Amino acid sequence: MTGFGDREIAGLLSALAEAPDFPAAASFLLAELSELSGASKACLFRLESSLENLTPVATLGLDTERHNGSVSATDLSSPLILSMLSLSPVRGHGSLGPGLLSGFDSWLVLPMPQPGFRGAPEAMPRFRAVELALARRITLLPADVRVGAVPFAVVVLEQPSDGSIDSARHISALTGPILSKLSALAEATGHGTSLVEQRDRLELMVDSLPDPVVITDASNAIVAHNERAARLLRGREDDSIGRRRALELNNLLFTSFLSKAVMAGAHQAGPRELNLVDPDEGNDLLFEVLTHPLGERVGPEDAVLSVLRDVTDLRRAANELERQIQRVRQAEVTVRGERDRLDLVLENVADPILVTDARSNIILMNEQAEHLFQIGEDDGRSRREIATVRNNDTKFTSFISEFAMLDDDSRRGRMSLADPHSGVELPVEVVSGKVRNERREPIAIVSVLHDLTKQVENERLYDALKRLNSELEQRIREATADLAEQNARLQWQSLEVERATKLKSEFLASMSHELRTPINALIGYTALLLDGVLGDVNNRQHDALTRGRAAAEHLLALINDILDLAKIEAGKMPMHLEDVPLDDVLSEVSQQIEPMVRKKQLEYAVDIAPDCPSLYTDRTKVKQILLNLLSNAVKFTTRGRVSVEVRCAPGGIRMDVIDTGIGIRASDLQAIWDDFRQVDQSRTREFGGTGLGLSITRKLLERLGGSVTVQSTYGEGSKFSVYLPLAVPDPTLSELTGAGAP
Ligand code: ADP
Repeated sequence: MTGFGDREIAGLLSALAEAPDFPAAASFLLAELSELSGASKACLFRLESSLENLTPVATLGLDTERHNGSVSATDLSSPLILSMLSLSPVRGHGSLGPGLLSGFDSWLVLPMPQPGFRGAPEAMPRFRAVELALARRITLLPADVRVGAVPFAVVVLEQPSDGSIDSARHISALTGPILSKLSALAEATGHGTSLVEQRDRLELMVDSLPDPVVITDASNAIVAHNERAARLLRGREDDSIGRRRALELNNLLFTSFLSKAVMAGAHQAGPRELNLVDPDEGNDLLFEVLTHPLGERVGPEDAVLSVLRDVTDLRRAANELERQIQRVRQAEVTVRGERDRLDLVLENVADPILVTDARSNIILMNEQAEHLFQIGEDDGRSRREIATVRNNDTKFTSFISEFAMLDDDSRRGRMSLADPHSGVELPVEVVSGKVRNERREPIAIVSVLHDLTKQVENERLYDALKRLNSELEQRIREATADLAEQNARLQWQSLEVERATKLKSEFLASMSHELRTPINALIGYTALLLDGVLGDVNNRQHDALTRGRAAAEHLLALINDILDLAKIEAGKMPMHLEDVPLDDVLSEVSQQIEPMVRKKQLEYAVDIAPDCPSLYTDRTKVKQILLNLLSNAVKFTTRGRVSVEVRCAPGGIRMDVIDTGIGIRASDLQAIWDDFRQVDQSRTREFGGTGLGLSITRKLLERLGGSVTVQSTYGEGSKFSVYLPLAVPDPTLSELTGAGAP
């Protein structure tokens, strides 16, 4: 076929325009070109939209089994690429490449341009194309220059007839834009379909969301929503009145919520809560609304996407949780109060208190217990103190462990601990009790430690005392035995002494007659001589006789005194009790003493108180007592006065014998009462006497139930005071009268 006139070209173009799709158009064009040029093989390659490869889209007379006819758009050595980029036909021989291209031997490549668009591949400058063609030894034909054309596709023809080349060039240049449009259309259609699919998928996704999703416009009207949102906000034909009301309410609530959100000025302010009604169930629903402005890219400029998260259950759970927390807090406060009270008790009890758990671990203790059982981080305990605390802990824990294994409710036991501070032993009594829960399971053990130091010390003292006591008893038994023996001996000795004394007194008493008779004879005969009855005696003889008589009289007095004393001691002085008027006795004694008083030119006075009663006593003995005291007073007084005063005294009378004589030294006041005692030998000799008078006086007074005392100032005088009871007491009476008279 030669000559392809304008009519044919117009027909071809309209036929192409009517082609159902791009592949059909491409095949049709290829067929027309092959026929025109007489080519046995032909292939149309299109530049992919990615602009990376030339890919075959229609073939003719080629083995389609051998695919892979693509050529890289950057492979400038390929005649196809050179033709396409330079928009110039290229002719040559030899291999065009592998795959489909291997079928061509003597070929013509025709470029198919398309109108330019943004991002389209640029056409290669002519000089560059010429350079490449020369290097490749291929023929570069003149280009069909069209303004704004860019590469689109190439047609490869095998051995076209020379006369057809111009027509073929013309046709390819003309049909390029049409085919490119068809290709774009096909691509757009493909895109459209996939977009619809994508939209369907997205819709499905959004509808299957459990949360209502809504897009609203500037007037808060709902533009789009998913299915869950429709259930809450969109009505249906067959809605009941109740449901319709609920929907209205929901729309109202939602719109007002959105208005408020807009007024608050920020959709980004985070989730906020929205109360809606379930139109089907009528329940209250609580949503957390997340709003997000969509902006112009996705929809109207003020469009807002709202996602409503159903938090009804969540809120209910949160409320419940809050209530639980409140309850726990309340319980905590109660427990803390109890704990504080317990602490108060623990801290104020002086005894150590410990609380242990079911596994015998100490979980609570007071300060006193801490001192014994706790090693703090920084309480600066020495190594010895720490060892003591460990030791205490071991003892206590083993006690508690044993108790924990028993079924008993309480246990009491002794334990020897030590004070960590002083190291002193600390005996304690532990009283432990189990604390049980409602199921009667032991959950804790409370132990109180009582300090037994004092008790143990008391026990020790008690033991020591007991021992001492028994030792003492033993000693007393021994001593008593000794004493009994000594007593027996003494008794025997005293009996012996008594017997000897009695013998002595009996001897003396019986001797009185024998002694007195010769002395009285001496005195009598001396008196006769002195009186001159036996003849005259001269002065010297008279003097000697006087001395002899005085000596005899002294001897007689001495013997009388000794005998009196002996009688008293031998119990042989009989008592003659009677009423004794004191003035009688005193006047008798005064008569006897008067000659001595006169001789010494002393003043003498007796003063008896008028109310003085008479005594029931032994008259002779009272006389002898007064006589002894008065004769001493006169004897030891050289000038001045001797007096007697009688006064009443409780239960008796008092008689004072007072003198202004020589007096007695204080150191001698005790000695004057002894037998034969004369305190100042030198002076007493001057006054005479036997030294027995006071001794006899005292013994007599003892017999009468009375007593005698002395007051004296040496050189000034003395006062002897006698006390006599109103009556001689009975024991004395019975003793003395019972003794019998000789
Ligand atoms: P005597 O027979 O020596 O008087 P007493 O027993 O009557 O023996 O007295 C003992 C001593 O007590 C006397 O020797 C005298 O030293 C002293 N004495 C007794 N009465 C008096 C007195 N009134 N004044 C001073 N000395 C006295």
